[in-house]
Amino acid sequence: ASEASEYDVVFIGGGVAGYVGAIKAGQEGLKTACIEKRGMLGGTCLNVGCIPSKSLLNNSHLYHQIQHDTKKRGIDVGEVKLNLTQMMKAKDESVNGLTKGVEFLFKKNKVDYIKGTGAFMDEHTIAVNLIDGGETQVKAKNIVIATGSESTPFPGLEIDEKKVITSTGALALTEVPKKMVVIGGGIIGLEMASVWSRLGAEVTVVEFLGQIGGPGMDGDIAKQSQKILAKQGLKFKLNTKVTSGDASGSGVKIEVEAAKGGKNETLDADVVLVAIGRRPYTEGLGLENVGIDVDERKRLVIDQEYRTKIPHIRCIGDVTFGPMLAHKAEEEAVAAVEYIKKGTGHVNYAAIPSVMYTHPEVAWVGQNEQELKSQKIDYKVGTFPFTANSRAKTNLETDGMVKFLSDSKTDRILGVHIIGANAGEMIAEGTLALEYGASSEDVARTCHAHPTLAEAFKEAAMATYSQPIHF
Ligand code: FAD
Ligand code: NAD
Repeated sequence: ASEASEYDVVFIGGGVAGYVGAIKAGQEGLKTACIEKRGMLGGTCLNVGCIPSKSLLNNSHLYHQIQHDTKKRGIDVGEVKLNLTQMMKAKDESVNGLTKGVEFLFKKNKVDYIKGTGAFMDEHTIAVNLIDGGETQVKAKNIVIATGSESTPFPGLEIDEKKVITSTGALALTEVPKKMVVIGGGIIGLEMASVWSRLGAEVTVVEFLGQIGGPGMDGDIAKQSQKILAKQGLKFKLNTKVTSGDASGSGVKIEVEAAKGGKNETLDADVVLVAIGRRPYTEGLGLENVGIDVDERKRLVIDQEYRTKIPHIRCIGDVTFGPMLAHKAEEEAVAAVEYIKKGTGHVNYAAIPSVMYTHPEVAWVGQNEQELKSQKIDYKVGTFPFTANSRAKTNLETDGMVKFLSDSKTDRILGVHIIGANAGEMIAEGTLALEYGASSEDVARTCHAHPTLAEAFKEAAMATYSQPIHF
């Protein structure tokens, strides 16, 4: 290593956490490097997560819609054929364009991109095993760990990414499986189940809990979502636990049993998707050489300024506490750099939106009814269905509703939950309202353009403290 490789800050991991932090640090005039071992920037999100999954969700939705939802719109179409190779190519093009964009932003902001695997040698030195061969060492005043997460394996079912797959395999199948079993009805499970079901697979989702959607989704909304997805062809087995699997034959056999004891059943599948959550990834990072603490879920322990117990080594994104979401990682990256540069930074963890990109989408921010009840907080509910919204009617997209939860006494918004065609875009307004401590009346008295889906948002707010006009 030369003297030149002494940095103000080095990020280990070039995912959303690491690359956003590196760009921000570059903008702040800090001498910055980012170490990434994948050979591509953007991490899970750009390469095998958010971006490729949304490409397949969008295009599989179009394929499904053209087959099943055009006649009533006055569009007669001829034979519709799937070209899976081209659909995958379109996905790869989106991914490649975006990862190259990040490389360009690194150059623009004078961030050194070091391609290789980083491991701590001591508190200020990282050894990098370079992708192109050889090793280098970098020294840094500040180090930010942003090594992300990996899918949690299911004991006894070895992942081959062909027959037994994680989300990574689910984004790259070369043919549509006849029968697919999805273990876990969380967000990954439901998004990937939607894609393959739309393309023709018979999909069964097995979920341990009595509700789909994973942690955070409001109970009412989860029920509606399940009903709609079932109508689209997904099969659900709730309150059901997968106990074992056998992939030794030509297909895969999955043993399931009722979660609270009871009947056993064997499910046959050509492909099984394991989607039971993700866990922090720190393999080969040499944490033992610096003695950083991890909790019982292997998350790196940090304080409010993202510092590990070694104060100049910080940690952000999936590898530490909080929801495993790209936009959460991005907020933390900016805040961590602000702490390094100026000593202050901030992320409001109470206003981080979640979106499930099924059709219709499900989106929420703040607390749900189950959480408010368990905390004994008095709240009011206001709902508005898309069946009563003019734009949803013209679009023939009337499934879903907006649900507001606000404080009984003060009317301050506590949570917003949406299921509907454009929920993922609409939740931004809810997030802004929550961030600014708005009441439902503040939203209801804000003029919304007509005809838009956002009027359903305004009217649900109205329903919370008064009555909606159109329902
Ligand atoms: P990661 O993106 O995992 O990045 C960590 C990077 O560090 C990796 O590239 C890894 O190669 C690198 N690395 C690890 N160890 C080392 C080392 N020792 N040296 C060098 N490099 C190293 N979130 C959303 O908000 N919206 C979505 O729609 C969404 N969709 C998703 C879909 C799927 C299928 C999956 C799996 C996830 C999805 N997520 C989504 C979650 C999102 O991808 C993560 O929250 C986000 O990627 C976290 O960013 P990160 O930078 O913390 O970690
Ligand atoms: P998750 O925690 O959301 O869901 C996993 C589900 O699997 C849970 O509902 C759990 O009860 C169930 N489960 C666990 N063990 C089981 C068993 N043996 N049998 C049956 N069911 C079982 O995890 P995920 O869906 O894998 O997603 C991982 C992370 O990635 C999440 O944090 C998620 O937020 C993130 N992600 C986000 C998006 C998005 O924002 N659109 C998309 C994909 C992934």
